[in-house]
Amino acid sequence: MYTMDLTDKVAIVTGGAHGIGKGIVDAFLDCGAKVAVVDMAETHDETTVNTFHVQADVSNPEQVTEVVDSVIEHFGRVDILVNNAGISTMDYFVDIKEQDWDKTIDVNAKGVYLCMQAVAKQLQAQGQGGKIINIASQAGKNGYQLMGSYVASKHAVLGMTKVAALELAKDKINVNAVCPGIVETTMKQSERVIGGNLRGLQAEDIKHEDNSQVPLGRTAVPADIANVVVFLASTYSDYMTGQGINVTGGMTMN
Ligand code: NAD
Repeated sequence: MYTMDLTDKVAIVTGGAHGIGKGIVDAFLDCGAKVAVVDMAETHDETTVNTFHVQADVSNPEQVTEVVDSVIEHFGRVDILVNNAGISTMDYFVDIKEQDWDKTIDVNAKGVYLCMQAVAKQLQAQGQGGKIINIASQAGKNGYQLMGSYVASKHAVLGMTKVAALELAKDKINVNAVCPGIVETTMKQSERVIGGNLRGLQAEDIKHEDNSQVPLGRTAVPADIANVVVFLASTYSDYMTGQGINVTGGMTMN
């Protein structure tokens, strides 16, 4: 029988307190996994027998090492890493401030490198393979106005995905990326406000513009992305590695 069963698997989900990350945490729990929810934000979600909350910044090397150590101490192993934590900053390219550039690259690119490296070493030591899933973006494949540092950071994520996939294949560690289109989260709402200010439009106008771009007729909710992440975390994707999978409601066909 076909089922997305993750029973006895231990997953680390970064940025798991809100938005897409929270959707992934909920889906993993539904599939029977134990989940370490790593987020910079304080969470009041209750720790259960299957969840473990760690407050940490993925761009801080010491904190990332502590996260992996504490997950191993708590659950005894790790099988799945989802690099989902991310931020976006917006401005015209000629106006991008160095501090915004550094912050975006630090969280979105360096954070993925640090977490992948720390977890890959642990997976290699365990010797039983594993799954690494990076939440990239359409901005990892295309250019978008006002999003220079974000686009650069997400292209870096897809580049790292390919290199890690090549180098970790011998250890049966699959490394793939998901490239969402437009997902209704706090990040998307604030992008509409900031982008609207820069373009002289209302956030509502941009939301309308977003909806009209999607052939399937609606923007995504976190569960749309989580469904594909669950597949990539399951044995059904054992023969896939190094891929950047579009989950866009068809937006990228044109
Ligand atoms: P969100 O802002 O709703 O949630 C992001 C979560 O990451 C928050 O809980 C936040 O506290 C956490 N976080 C931020 N910086 C962190 C850090 N340094 N360390 C640990 N945690 C940190 O955003 P979202 O829309 O759910 O985005 C999740 C991922 O999906 C991001 O990587 C984003 O780039 C990507 N993405 C989003 C969209 C979209 O339309 N929303 C589209 C494509 C890709």
